[in-house]
Amino acid sequence: MANGKFRAKIKRGATRAKQKSGSIYFLLWSAFALFSFLIVLLVSFSQSYLIRETYERQTEKTLVEKGKQIETVLARTSLYDLESEQFSEFIRYLSSSNDVNVCILGADGKVYSPNGGISDDGGDTFRSDYAQEARILLEKLKQNGGKSVVYSASREYVYGASLGFYDGQPIYLYVNTDLQFLHGVMGQMTVRMILIALLVFILSFAVSSAISGALVKPLTMLTEKTRRFARGDYEVDFSDGAYGDEIVELAGTLNFARDEISKADKMQKELIANVSHDFKTPLTMIKAYASMIREISGDNPEKRNKHAQVIEDEADRLTSLVSDVLDLSKIRSGLDALKITKFDVSSYLYDVLDRFVYLVENKGYTFLLDIDDGLFIQADEIKIGQVLYNLIGNAVNYTGDDKKVYISLKRENSTVKFSVRDTGKGIKKEELSTIWDRYYRSGETHKRPVNGTGLGLSIVKSILEKHNFNFGVDSKVGEGSTFYVYFN
Ligand code: ADP
Repeated sequence: MANGKFRAKIKRGATRAKQKSGSIYFLLWSAFALFSFLIVLLVSFSQSYLIRETYERQTEKTLVEKGKQIETVLARTSLYDLESEQFSEFIRYLSSSNDVNVCILGADGKVYSPNGGISDDGGDTFRSDYAQEARILLEKLKQNGGKSVVYSASREYVYGASLGFYDGQPIYLYVNTDLQFLHGVMGQMTVRMILIALLVFILSFAVSSAISGALVKPLTMLTEKTRRFARGDYEVDFSDGAYGDEIVELAGTLNFARDEISKADKMQKELIANVSHDFKTPLTMIKAYASMIREISGDNPEKRNKHAQVIEDEADRLTSLVSDVLDLSKIRSGLDALKITKFDVSSYLYDVLDRFVYLVENKGYTFLLDIDDGLFIQADEIKIGQVLYNLIGNAVNYTGDDKKVYISLKRENSTVKFSVRDTGKGIKKEELSTIWDRYYRSGETHKRPVNGTGLGLSIVKSILEKHNFNFGVDSKVGEGSTFYVYFN
């Protein structure tokens, strides 16, 4: 059931990952599409604006030139019969040769010379009612003080000038050219731009597909491997097949996490195995000796006391084992916050040493001390007491047959250095780094005067790391070991 739930969880995680990879794709595509769309828009806008500007300016300039020419020609011509077919022919000729529409208008919009000059090629067609145009023209001429004018009106450009009088009425030259060419070009450009925009959309779709595919592939691979890892496969190699600096870095970090987790997992298993083994031994002893008291030694006070002592010793071992396991788990989990105070570590060390006095008095141990008085440090007093007790206890346990333990506490530059040396068999080079992490001594049958649970150095390490104190061990096989701590 629990397994089923676990699997369901993994599956849910996978679905979420899938949604996310989809969204990367969508994000990329929309970013690409938007970007290219904006570029197309910008280019088409600037182009059409530029073309329109240039074309209009050019048209206006040409119209002014042609208008002036036509005005000059007309000024040299005697305008005696504007309504004659001959004059109309002449105006038509002026229109077609200049590629414009030429009209002679009265003030009321009367057309004196209807033209058809460029109507053949679909240009401006003949308009009988020019009242509106005449009104605008007169207005413009008035504004310009009677001098010739050029202006744009709806889809055309107009050149206008006063030509004097005919039949007692004022007459005006009205030359216009439309912007049809420009509108044609603009229309074509719009179609082209729409096509380009479409192409850009398709291209951005293809490019974003390719990029997001390349991006998402290693991520999918990592997700798959993480799933295997979550199922307990510590052999999985995240770096295998990873590409791209960032992904390779991520894979490296995952590999590191995998190593750490598998190490912790291994240690956890070892701890449980070793601790339960260590619980079992004293329990078996307690049970056996209790039976012995009941069945054999109950009536014999001497034997009974001996057996009861064994039960007491084993119970003590159990107690210290339980408290060590608790200490370690509390320190490791961070539940046990440090209570930092400033205290005299010199006198505190003497207090710790008092606990070993019975060894000196009864077991022939010698403690050689080199302790400076009045050294103060900032730390958690109780925890530092645990460190000192464990390190001295180990030195006692592992020192040589001379039973000598050297203890020193000295000021060194700005720090206080504690060290404890024994004359025992030392620690092998390959074991030097692992003794701090080993949860339990391996197959050790050494008879120890100080109770050890195999967790001592792990506790020491955790406490000192929490304080950020430097510590270490120097050891030579056959000569002994020196454990040291800098209370900086
Ligand atoms: P234990 O209860 O076994 O002493 P510790 O965690 O204190 O557990 O020590 C771990 C291991 O480190 C010991 O089993 C022993 O092999 C080694 N060790 C610790 N102190 C010394 C020492 N002073 N000399 C030699 N070996 C030591």
